[in-house]
Amino acid sequence: MLTVSAGLCFTCFSGEKVIPEVTGRLVVATGSGEVLYLEGEEWLKKSLPIGSLVKPFTALAAIETDPSLACLVVNCQSTSPSVPVGEGCWYRPGHGSLGLSQALALSCDRYFHLLASRTSPSIWKKVLTRYGLSPPEETSEIISEMVGTGEKLQATPLEILGAYLTLVTGLFYRCQSAPSGHWKFLAGGPVPGNEQARHLVDQGLAGCLSWGTGSNLFALGDVRPAGKTGTVSFSLTNRPGLAGTHGWFVGFWPGENPEVALVVFLLEGRGSDAARAGCNLFQQLRARGIISKTGQSSGKRQ
Ligand SMILES: [Zn+2]
Repeated sequence: MLTVSAGLCFTCFSGEKVIPEVTGRLVVATGSGEVLYLEGEEWLKKSLPIGSLVKPFTALAAIETDPSLACLVVNCQSTSPSVPVGEGCWYRPGHGSLGLSQALALSCDRYFHLLASRTSPSIWKKVLTRYGLSPPEETSEIISEMVGTGEKLQATPLEILGAYLTLVTGLFYRCQSAPSGHWKFLAGGPVPGNEQARHLVDQGLAGCLSWGTGSNLFALGDVRPAGKTGTVSFSLTNRPGLAGTHGWFVGFWPGENPEVALVVFLLEGRGSDAARAGCNLFQQLRARGIISKTGQSSGKRQ
């Protein structure tokens, strides 16, 4: 297992933007569940609002509530600057007409607001539990939690990575402390789910890196990653002066039958920044031979 060293160029200029300062980052081999790389260990165990990382699970719950929602199309029109983001879409010019996988790739709040309003909250909670996430107890503003604009749905980066590994492989993954003191992700039995729903989510995660919120120069190349970004605004009790947003990214490389999975948390930044930092790390690990250059040793979805 590696930890960050000063010799690695994590702040080099990419030709796009400077790679943001990383707060917490963890890479796991999907086949063995072994941790290949970690950085900012203290942050990986902190429970934090997960923002738009909830959207794939909301999509699954929506289709479980009503299978016809898999075909929902929404026109995301512009959001006035005077309207709070939670009442429109974070992308104020508007995304236009979107289906489910497109809305996932672009993390469209307006689409997911309508989708969530037609989704059973109890099914949504069951889906979260199925993937190892803890639903919020207080649910007066549950639609916001389902969209990812609330703060009550919280999870540690370790729990988030387990949930996404489960999402992508179809096997229930959980993180365990190994006898050595190091973490390891263990795969359990298959998780029940709707194949069409999973296919739409897979398309959304691929689109996120190809042309959506997570697309960046580091994601380009012969073998593409997949993933999901999240941007959240919340205060931390130990950092009262901190303003702005925090960025999330969960990524898989390659996007299909992934060999490795990664979670990135940025204390200051957006989801797109976290995706850039994550894809930059994928490139560095490939260049150093820590993960294969071709993705041929991928784990297989069950
Ligand atoms: Zn939108």
